[in-house]
Amino acid sequence: MEIFDVMGEHNHEQIVFGFDKDVGLRAIIAIHNTALGPALGGTRMWPYRSTEDALTDALRLSRGMTYKAAACGLSLGGGKGVIIGDPERDKSEVLFRDYGRLVDGLHGRFITGEDVGVGVSDIEWMRAETKYVVGISEALGGGGDPSPVTARGVVFAMKACALEVFQRQSLHGLKVMIQGLGQVGMHLAEFLHQEQAELLVADLNERRVLLAVDKFNATPVGVDEVYGADADIFAPCALGAIVNDETIPKFRVKIICGAANNQLADEKRHGLALKDFEILYAPDYVANAGGLINVANELEGYSRDRAFQQVRAIYDTVRELIEVSKSEDIPTNIASNRVAERRIDQIAKLRRTFVTEPSASYQEGRVFH
Ligand code: NAD
Repeated sequence: MEIFDVMGEHNHEQIVFGFDKDVGLRAIIAIHNTALGPALGGTRMWPYRSTEDALTDALRLSRGMTYKAAACGLSLGGGKGVIIGDPERDKSEVLFRDYGRLVDGLHGRFITGEDVGVGVSDIEWMRAETKYVVGISEALGGGGDPSPVTARGVVFAMKACALEVFQRQSLHGLKVMIQGLGQVGMHLAEFLHQEQAELLVADLNERRVLLAVDKFNATPVGVDEVYGADADIFAPCALGAIVNDETIPKFRVKIICGAANNQLADEKRHGLALKDFEILYAPDYVANAGGLINVANELEGYSRDRAFQQVRAIYDTVRELIEVSKSEDIPTNIASNRVAERRIDQIAKLRRTFVTEPSASYQEGRVFH
């Protein structure tokens, strides 16, 4: 693998390798872009089959974080860490503290938190070595569980879509099919019930379905029947790749908007297919950005009220990308990528202008402190 060619493919800024033979640390931090601010992204622990697989994952995920932060108007860049190892077997305090030192050595260019295989207690070990971590427990002044904020963000994304499709300011009376009643899905059901939406729900776990039926007057739907359900909105909150060649012709909904990551099996083809079928798609990384907004909030001293306020921005972001999608006749997922790229380009240009052409106030001799 020719590392600089790989970095050049999507313009990654920096890759950091961390190794400690005694501790067993093998970690990679990929920083994709810091034009808007420090790179923020979780750290994943996974038994990758090869270093190349781990690097590929870090590069792909860090780039995704750049787009997510940029599209949602956050002053953050994109990065991601991966630790090669089995989270069931290889975790230890010394490993995570060692990794924390690696993160600390980047002096805030990279800020990290939880991801697959890395939990709150691991973050607390890292935190003993670096302040550049987020996603810490409420007891230690962090944001705690992000899922209610994520669910609130999905509601704002849904409202923006409902305004476009049904010319409605509220979700009152609309039928929403929720796939997955986990951490996010159950909170989503609660908020939608408060909005007086009608709920259809499905989960592999029958207890959770019964809970939603009981608490939110939801109608249960079999896990295999969700795609053809008679509803207005489909809210995927369980699995990725649920928008694919098989499911698209089954959908009877007019909107797809949920928290699950990587909803489109094929970004290009299935984004276009949804547009052709006149189904409005709220791009997953925008609809579920509440999780990122929640941890970013910790950087300013966490406040749940402020986090709930900040996720309102998702409404405006979705409205903006719907407008771009219509005016440029492109699918919404491509529109959100463009919104993100344009913002990064503008800010990067501003920085270049400042460096190469001193501003008027600089020429007048005023100095900033
Ligand atoms: P979770 O594991 O708590 O919940 C997932 C639920 O989906 C479980 O109840 C599970 O039984 C159910 N499920 C699994 N397969 C199913 C199927 N075939 N049909 C119906 N239900 C099924 O996860 P979560 O934290 O609620 O996250 C849901 C999705 O949102 C994930 O894709 C996650 O990556 C994404 N996400 C979550 C957050 C967050 O704040 N938790 C933030 C951003 C994105």
